[in-house]
Amino acid sequence: MDLGIRGKKAIVCAGSKGLGRGCAEALAEAGVDLVLNARGAEALAETANEIEARYGVTVIPVAADITTPEGRAAVLDAAGEVDILVNNAGGPPPGLWSDWSRDDFIKALDGNMLSPIAMMQAVMPGMMARGWGRVVNITSAAVRAPIPQLGLSNAARAGLTGFVAGTARQVAHAGVTINNMLPGIHATDRADALDGAVVRAEGISLDEARTRRAAGIPARRYGTASEFGAMCAFLCSQHAGFIVGQNILVDGGAANQTM
Ligand code: NAP
Repeated sequence: MDLGIRGKKAIVCAGSKGLGRGCAEALAEAGVDLVLNARGAEALAETANEIEARYGVTVIPVAADITTPEGRAAVLDAAGEVDILVNNAGGPPPGLWSDWSRDDFIKALDGNMLSPIAMMQAVMPGMMARGWGRVVNITSAAVRAPIPQLGLSNAARAGLTGFVAGTARQVAHAGVTINNMLPGIHATDRADALDGAVVRAEGISLDEARTRRAAGIPARRYGTASEFGAMCAFLCSQHAGFIVGQNILVDGGAANQTM
């Protein structure tokens, strides 16, 4: 399917690896030029070069922490006018509800709620003025069904989801759509880190931890970054202009619910 976005320009935050990279690759395959961000310059340059070589699009790497005002400014300066924004950042650490301090919450809110909101505030006025734009926020399946040990993530992402629910309906008239993608368990470094915590806590092997988690997913496997990216590219396509303010769960059926 031609997604109809060849020649458009996207910012993909936190995109040198994992789900962000999956989104960047799918957009590049559709002919979208990228401003690609992550903190680690080396992995970012490698990913940017690979994507440029594979898909023939322009990829500008910006090594910066997207959860800081300086990092966001660097990304926005490099990008100029953009048509597509994919918001993403690392997730907060797991822990226990009774242990988190105010600072822990502020850090989680900064990373997974206020940073994506600041990026939307920066790029959406231009999108609206030009009459076309697509925003996809990578959140988490935890928004739909809480993951108890990820309370910081549950809280921060619920806040972003509430903001998007109202804002998406205020910008849709100008051709700008905002939607959230809610990943369930995907085979990325983040999944390895969470499985690693179980390995240490329970003294089991990494393979066993993965097998146990996969057993709880109706698809009986972890998702892949490329299938996640394909959905992101569709939401950014010309065909998705009537999809507004939605939360798209990509979890292999793991959340046991009717709707
Ligand atoms: P990942 O494999 O660990 O990749 C994270 C990517 O983001 C890397 O490119 C990393 O590069 C970059 N990054 C992290 N923090 C950043 C920051 N502050 N500024 C700029 N770049 C940053 O993670 P993932 O699995 O793709 O997860 C992406 C998001 O989805 C996370 O918020 C995660 O919590 C959420 N999620 C993931 C899953 C899953 O199963 N994978 C499930 C639910 C939710 P640098 O480290 O070099 O910056």
